[in-house]
Amino acid sequence: MRKNIVAGNWKMNKTLQEGLAIVDALKTALAGKTINCDVILGTPFIHLACATDAIGDSKIGIAAQNCADKASGAYTGEISAAMVASTGAKYVILGHSERRAYYGETDATLKEKVVLALANGLTPIFCIGEVLEEREANKQEAVVKAQIENALFDLSAADFSKLVLAYEPVWAIGTGKTATSAQAQEIHAFIRKTLADKYGKEVADNTSILYGGSCNASNAKELFSNPDVDGGLIGGASLEVDKFMPIIEAF
Ligand code: 13P
Repeated sequence: MRKNIVAGNWKMNKTLQEGLAIVDALKTALAGKTINCDVILGTPFIHLACATDAIGDSKIGIAAQNCADKASGAYTGEISAAMVASTGAKYVILGHSERRAYYGETDATLKEKVVLALANGLTPIFCIGEVLEEREANKQEAVVKAQIENALFDLSAADFSKLVLAYEPVWAIGTGKTATSAQAQEIHAFIRKTLADKYGKEVADNTSILYGGSCNASNAKELFSNPDVDGGLIGGASLEVDKFMPIIEAF
């Protein structure tokens, strides 16, 4: 079901204590407010169990930032989708450009991760997006189409319907350079058309597609006002509640 979503991605930031302080402060800030989007926090693995406890009956959802491409076994240092689910987390961010660029994640490994996440009842927040040279060569549509096709198009329509997508132009991540509202709408509409061509209009219309990349309190409202932008995946501005709340309230 298509929803408005504002999801934070803390990346490798915040100790356990600092992270729990954010969860508490966010809970307090949200209490008694009418919020028109789902709110998710993507925390480091070690925060997950405590964070799911700490959210209590608030409406905050908790996401992992990755999971293994294997179900279980001798994979030292890895964390399986089943382990993530066992903490009470409901979501997992997969395919973030930092995972692709720094940890060698490929469409093929991501495909396995998505299948395992879904099999364990997690909602993948699947990230796609082009690097600067691809944007400058006007190849962004071909790039995101290939990322989607290669990692996701073996899924059944029923499984695909459980995903959230996040378009994150790599050149906009942590750079303070945001896609313009028009650029975001244009590629989100293209992504939705790509889904419609494969799975039909209903599935495409029901998929939430988030924008990520230097999204902040000053640009969120304009970005989210686009018909095909269903929210944001927020890095830096999710690390402080007084920067994250105005993004949540942009809906
Ligand atoms: P910034 O909001 O810090 O640009 O990061 C975006 C991002 O990568 C979210 O996953």
